[in-house]
Amino acid sequence: MGARIEAAASGWDVSPVHLLRPIPGIFSLADLDTSATPGFVGSKSDAVRLMQDRGKRLHTLQEKLYADAVAGNGRAVLLVLQGMDAAGKGGIIRHVLGTVNPEGVDHAPFGVPSSEERQHHFLWRVHKALPRLGHIGVFDRSHYEDVLVARVRRLVPEEVWQGRYCEINEFEDQVADQGTVIVKVAMFISLDEQRQRLLDRLQDPHKYWKFSPRDVDDRLLWPAYRDAYQALLDKTSTEVAPWYVVPSDHKWYSRITVMELLIAALESMNLSWPSASYDIDEEIARLERS
Ligand code: ADP
Repeated sequence: MGARIEAAASGWDVSPVHLLRPIPGIFSLADLDTSATPGFVGSKSDAVRLMQDRGKRLHTLQEKLYADAVAGNGRAVLLVLQGMDAAGKGGIIRHVLGTVNPEGVDHAPFGVPSSEERQHHFLWRVHKALPRLGHIGVFDRSHYEDVLVARVRRLVPEEVWQGRYCEINEFEDQVADQGTVIVKVAMFISLDEQRQRLLDRLQDPHKYWKFSPRDVDDRLLWPAYRDAYQALLDKTSTEVAPWYVVPSDHKWYSRITVMELLIAALESMNLSWPSASYDIDEEIARLERS
């Protein structure tokens, strides 16, 4: 995708594909402005309107991906979603992936590992959750928890989590080699915005279920989480599996951005509609006779 997109038509001045990749050694999470809207020149209502158009594009591209798999090509897309509590992962799944045929999406949430999962290597459950060919897989949290919560809460010794960055890079290399395009999105909100979103959950009986006292515990650990996120972004942003850091105080911005990142990933695959493996005229004639 070209860096410059026609601003009037799209609302983008520069594509987020080119703006949101953290450069190791230069990017500093502590300095991130979570209320920024890099690359987008329009307003919230422009973004909401644009979502509808781009949603149709995403829908078509996913269908092409599926058709491509039916034709025998083994390709898939994997969206890895990480972020602070209440950063808006759920909204991405509803509003961005919600524009795609639900049959084409493989949603995989990663919570606290089960006792069975704990008996295996940390990537065991991740392998099993990889998207089927022709699908867009969404990791709602991911193997990155094993270098985030595992590091911050000292669930394993340091030499174990330190070794995981390399293991993750090798694993993602293999996944990419097998034909899956990986898009990793890290969503961050300010601590004030997070407090407000968590308070909203506590003030609405319909949202109590979304809250966990653990969210406040993790919030108190934010400096340690921030260091863990910084290390993760420095060590695991690779050419085949880049991270995109998405400022997420504005939900409309994070949604249109992830939509655009997914579209760009699918477009980079140069998908085409498979040609018919049968004689079209003959089949039309047969149908007309039937
Ligand atoms: P969410 O907060 O994403 O809506 P949950 O309420 O199910 O989802 O929370 C998932 C919890 O599981 C988080 O606290 C997360 O840190 C934890 N978790 C995920 N993966 C691991 C892991 N590998 N080890 C320990 N805890 C994990």
